[in-house]
Amino acid sequence: MSRLPLLFALISFFFTLSLAAQEIQRPLWASKPDVAAFEKIENDHLAAADKAIAALTGVKEKRTIGNTLAVYDQAIRELNSAGYFAGLMQQVHPDSAFRDRATAMVSKVSAATSALSLNRDVYNALSALDVSKADAATRYYVQRQLLEFRLAGVDKDDATRAKLQKLNVQLTEEQSTFDRNISDDQKSVTADPAELAGLPQDYITAHKPGADGKVTITTNYPDLIPAMTFAKSGDLRKRLMLAFNTRAYPKNGDVLRSMMQTRYDIAQTLGYASWADYNAADKMIGKGSNIADFIQQVYDASHPLALREFAMILKEKQKDMPGATAIYDYEGGYYSEQLRRSQYDFDSQSVRPYFPFNQVKQGILDTAADLFHVTFKQEANVPSWDPAVETWLVYDHDKAIGRIYLDLHPRAGKFSHAEMAPVLDGIKGKQLPEAILVCNFAAPTATDPGLMEYGDVQTFFHEFGHLMHHILGGQQEWAGIAGISMESDFVEAPSQMLEEWIRSPQVLAKFAKNYKTGEPIPADLVARMNRASAFGRGNWVSRQNGFTAISYNLYKSNPANIDIDAVTNDATHRYALFQPIDGEHFWASFGHLGGYSSAYYTYLWDKVIAEDFFLQFDQTNLLAGDAPMRYRRVVLEPGGSMSANDLVKNFLGRPQNMTALQKWMGEEFAGNPATSGEN
Ligand SMILES: [Zn+2]
Repeated sequence: MSRLPLLFALISFFFTLSLAAQEIQRPLWASKPDVAAFEKIENDHLAAADKAIAALTGVKEKRTIGNTLAVYDQAIRELNSAGYFAGLMQQVHPDSAFRDRATAMVSKVSAATSALSLNRDVYNALSALDVSKADAATRYYVQRQLLEFRLAGVDKDDATRAKLQKLNVQLTEEQSTFDRNISDDQKSVTADPAELAGLPQDYITAHKPGADGKVTITTNYPDLIPAMTFAKSGDLRKRLMLAFNTRAYPKNGDVLRSMMQTRYDIAQTLGYASWADYNAADKMIGKGSNIADFIQQVYDASHPLALREFAMILKEKQKDMPGATAIYDYEGGYYSEQLRRSQYDFDSQSVRPYFPFNQVKQGILDTAADLFHVTFKQEANVPSWDPAVETWLVYDHDKAIGRIYLDLHPRAGKFSHAEMAPVLDGIKGKQLPEAILVCNFAAPTATDPGLMEYGDVQTFFHEFGHLMHHILGGQQEWAGIAGISMESDFVEAPSQMLEEWIRSPQVLAKFAKNYKTGEPIPADLVARMNRASAFGRGNWVSRQNGFTAISYNLYKSNPANIDIDAVTNDATHRYALFQPIDGEHFWASFGHLGGYSSAYYTYLWDKVIAEDFFLQFDQTNLLAGDAPMRYRRVVLEPGGSMSANDLVKNFLGRPQNMTALQKWMGEEFAGNPATSGEN
């Protein structure tokens, strides 16, 4: 018999396979671009955006969604793709010359975006569009875009628009100088090896004395945080805190003052009393004075609890220093850790053997898969800017719905914090959403499994919450409302909520196994870990509220009358319970005063929402019941297609309130009189 039929069958089988593969877009780095190729990709995006804008403004016939909104959205998609890629290369590319070119490209894309926001022809075109018969998401999209255009000043006269353009360019420069002064001013202190007493052995091993017999400790987080938490030497912690809180001082004083002035000028030009008011106009919070009210509500909810915790930590300090009445900021972390050991029988080092990096990573993927009903499949041999970068496709049943990149370990010249960044906007039927996690967890090696701190695992969950939001919200018709393109004071809610999953015994059972013996993390250790981690929340909220007050008070009025040091000291004394020492100028390195400006309240605002959301889940098993799928459908999938206030109401059946946050803060004392600070 001829073997032809089998051959045909094989060919058609391979044909089907390759078709299936072709349906999925190529990964970002498929062509391994050098600088020239990178710049070509970027310039092609910018040219395509220009072309779309020209086509849009050139329409002579009646404006329709097809000839106007679809073309506008094409421009947005091109500009976003260019901006995401340039921003990413600036943060992760191993070659500094490449990073410099990427920085220049970021400015170029941002100038194009800013020019579009002041393009009156585009604004008029969108205004002329009749969307009364369109679907709700499309109507909301157009309404939001028109608001953003007006906030940019598009409807002002030519002279005013020219002035705004100038102010915006100035602000971008001031912001990047502010940030660069902080990142350029990495400080360090030297210490006697004996001052490392109390720190974990792997930290001591990694900090060997130099030729002069001294150890160097930098103000970078992996160096700083263990020292502030575990070093017995108060003097070492004090020197480190002073170094940390004088970064970019006094340099950033003039920069911050002119940034505040530029923002005030922009707000005044657009008819707003203050930058805080202007900046709130396109957000959930609505207006500046609502931030002041929110700060007061948080204070009322948190202050009594914070005082209770303060009394407990003070007792711990008094064991070392009888008669002490104050706690300084360089002591808070250390005595809180001591208290967790003495009162909760919990040593945060004791959980690290259950958190080797690879197990944690797989555990988080498995948890997200269970929770959101998706699957992750790793792609093999995908080229990237560094061999450690992984790419995974996200599937809903058999359908690919997105791609994620994981760049999780430190490298010279790489962005040094943790973040999720969009890579592509998802557009239903046209483009899969893509996003990346850029983190700095210690890489496992042949001899070292990369044992993670509890806080690092929590950060990993947090960033994964952002990632799933961008992917699951990236199934809309328009790029401009895809994923996290929405009110910016909502986006920390899904991420902060996912942090709670680290406390679930069912979730921990998936991955928290001793790296040597394979033994699952013991239930009583989980219980002690959860109790100990619940301690200090009142203080944490108070401290965040202090930062929120600094961010709001610096931007709530005419900066000519503002003394930055006085505003900072006042907020610290009023809200935070741990006091700074003389000579600290925390604000100079408070990077959020650049990007977030008056909107640092976002973190606590979203914490309130996150805890309210969290209580909708089955508290005995966070993965069970219908809440996970309802959350995916009602909160994440809509992306930016409706107002975030509506997303909240749709999930909770009412607006958020303080009750859940209060429960979260008070968990340490609930039914736990033995640990009460009142005696
Ligand atoms: Zn976040």
